[in-house]
Amino acid sequence: MTAMEVRPSIPGIDLAKGSTEAASVPFAPAILEIGKDRHFWHWRINTCPICGRSHSHGGGPVGADPRIFLSHRAAHCRDINANGYLLIDAEPSRTVSMLTGGAM
Ligand SMILES: [Zn+2]
Repeated sequence: MTAMEVRPSIPGIDLAKGSTEAASVPFAPAILEIGKDRHFWHWRINTCPICGRSHSHGGGPVGADPRIFLSHRAAHCRDINANGYLLIDAEPSRTVSMLTGGAM
């Protein structure tokens, strides 16, 4: 496809960087969590749009912005060969609060 395709507008991710492949995969809202060691972020999907299970994706080290890890990710579904999903921030205001120390 070309630039003529219509993409949804979603805060926190740049779909312009995506491909037509990215436009055909489901959205997976995730919430930001801090790991038990408190050194790394995790993005947790409570209900996977593909398999219905919960998944966790790495969000990089605390101190960096975990939102750069959003967008198209390989699905963590067991026994399902899917094209992945678009990881999106389910609660952007909560994320900002965590990043600014409000919830830590
Ligand atoms: Zn899944």
